[in-house]
Amino acid sequence: MRVSKSKFIAGVQCLKRLYFQVHRPEMAAGSSEATEAIMEQGHQVGLVAQKAFPGGVLVAADHEHLDDAVRTTRELVVNAEVPAIFEATFEYGGVLVRTDVLERRSRAGYRLIEVKSATSPKPHYAYDIGIQKRVLSGAGVNLEGTRLMYLNREYVFDGQEYDVSRLFTIDELTREQTISDAQISSRVDQQLRVLGQPTPPDVKSGKQCIEPVLCEFYEHCNPDLPSDHVSLLPRMRTENVDDLLASGIMSVHQIPDDFLLTATQRRAVDAVKSGKMWIGPELTGELTTLRFPICFMDFETIFPALPRFAGMRPYDHVPFQWSVHRQERTGAPMMRYDFLAESASDPRIPFLESLCQAVKAAGSIVVYNQGFEASRLDDLARWLPEHRSEIAEIKARLWDLLAVIRRNVYHPAFGGSFSLKRVAVAILPDMNYDGLGVTDGNQAGAAWGRLVDAATGAEEKTQLKRALLQYCRQDTIALARIVEALRGGVGLTGVPTATVKSETA
Ligand code: SF4
Repeated sequence: MRVSKSKFIAGVQCLKRLYFQVHRPEMAAGSSEATEAIMEQGHQVGLVAQKAFPGGVLVAADHEHLDDAVRTTRELVVNAEVPAIFEATFEYGGVLVRTDVLERRSRAGYRLIEVKSATSPKPHYAYDIGIQKRVLSGAGVNLEGTRLMYLNREYVFDGQEYDVSRLFTIDELTREQTISDAQISSRVDQQLRVLGQPTPPDVKSGKQCIEPVLCEFYEHCNPDLPSDHVSLLPRMRTENVDDLLASGIMSVHQIPDDFLLTATQRRAVDAVKSGKMWIGPELTGELTTLRFPICFMDFETIFPALPRFAGMRPYDHVPFQWSVHRQERTGAPMMRYDFLAESASDPRIPFLESLCQAVKAAGSIVVYNQGFEASRLDDLARWLPEHRSEIAEIKARLWDLLAVIRRNVYHPAFGGSFSLKRVAVAILPDMNYDGLGVTDGNQAGAAWGRLVDAATGAEEKTQLKRALLQYCRQDTIALARIVEALRGGVGLTGVPTATVKSETA
C-alpha cells in the first residue's frame, strides 16, 4: 500500500480520518465551493512562489501519472543545469511525496522548500516537512537544508506586479518545528498497520475533528446532539463537558446547581431549564441609547491570500457588498439601500462613497460584531485617507447588537451560539434562512468570485446577484427585527417598525 503526503498528514490529525479516506471515501462530506476556493488559492500562491526561483522546472503530472513524475524527477535531479524543481516527486518506504520547491544549492545538494499560504508557521507543518525529508533522504537526495516559505503579512502590494522577494518570508525551521526521523518513521509504520486492519480504529471525537482542519467525516462521527445537550452551552470547555458526561449527566436539565459555570453559562442553564428567554436588567437601558435615524448595516468581504489591489497586504479584506436598512424616526417606514460590486475592478471607492451616502447624518448604526465592521472601516481609512473624517463619523456611531445580546439575552434555542442566524431564528419564529442561494459569508465570497468572473454566463450572473443581495439584506432586516422584538419585549414605547417600504439600489 502507498500513502501520499496528504494522507500521512490526515493520519497525523486522526488515524480514523486516514482509514476513512482510504477505505470509505464515499462517506466524506462533498467539498464545498468555499473549500475548493481555498484549495485554488493555495495553488495560486504556489505558482507565484515559483517565480522566486527563475529557471526552475515543473514536473507536471496528474494523479494518474505519478510513476511518470517519479521518473522525470530522477532525470532532473541529476541534471546540474536545473536550478530548481517544482513538484518533484519521490517515493520511499510506502510513502509518495510531491515537494513544492527543490532548490539546487550545489552540484549534488538540494534545499527543500515547503510553500504555505499562511502568514506564520504552524506547529503541524513539522510533520509536513518531516515526511518529505524522510522520503527524499530515503530516495537518495542529498538535502543541505529545509525552509518554510510563507506569506509576509506586512508586504504591501503596489498594484502592478508582486515583488516575490518581499511577498514571501523564507525561514529556517526552528528545533521546535522539527520532528525527528524516528518519530516520522514510527508514525508511518503505525499508519500502514492501521490501514491493513479490517475495521477503522476506535478514535473518539475531539478537538482533532476541527483542528488543524475541519475533518471531512465530521458529520459521520459527530451526529446532531439533542438541543439540551451539556455541550451546547456558550463557550463550554471540553474538560467540563467530559466531567459532566463522566458523571452520567448529558442534559442541561441534570446539571447540579453547584457545578462551576461562568455567569453566561449559568444564565443559559436557567433559560433552558425554564424554557423561557432570559432578559438581563440592563437591556432596557442599553436599548434606550439607540438614536434615530437608525441604520442597520452589514458588510460582505473576501480576504484573498494574494493582495488584489494597490495598498493591500496578504489577507486584507476586499469589501464588495454592503446592505443598510434605515429608519428616520419611530414608526417611519424602513428604507433599504444596497451596494454590490459587479465587476472585478477595485470596489473600494464606490463601496465607501455609496455607504457614506446611505448612512449620512445617521444616529446609531447597528451592526452585529462591531469589531468586524470597525476593522473594515479602518482599512478603508488607510487606503482612502481623503475619506478619513467621514469614516471616523461612521465608526463613532456603531452600535453593537451582538455585545448587547451577549450581556443581556439568552434564549433556550441559542444552543450555545450567539451567531446572528441562530439568534434571529430563536427570537423571531417566522425568520427563515431556507431557500437562500447564499447562506453564509464563505458562500457569499465564493458567489461574488463567480459573479465578477468574465467566464460566468449572463443568466448565472443574474442569479448570483439576486442571491447575494437577498443574503445581505436578510442580515440587516434580521438586525432591525431583533431590535424591534427586544424593545417590544421590555415594553419600550415607540417600537421601530421593520416593514420595508421602498428601496434604493
Ligand atoms: S470526525 Fe474526528 S474522529 Fe472522526 S475521523 Fe474525523 S477527526 Fe477522526
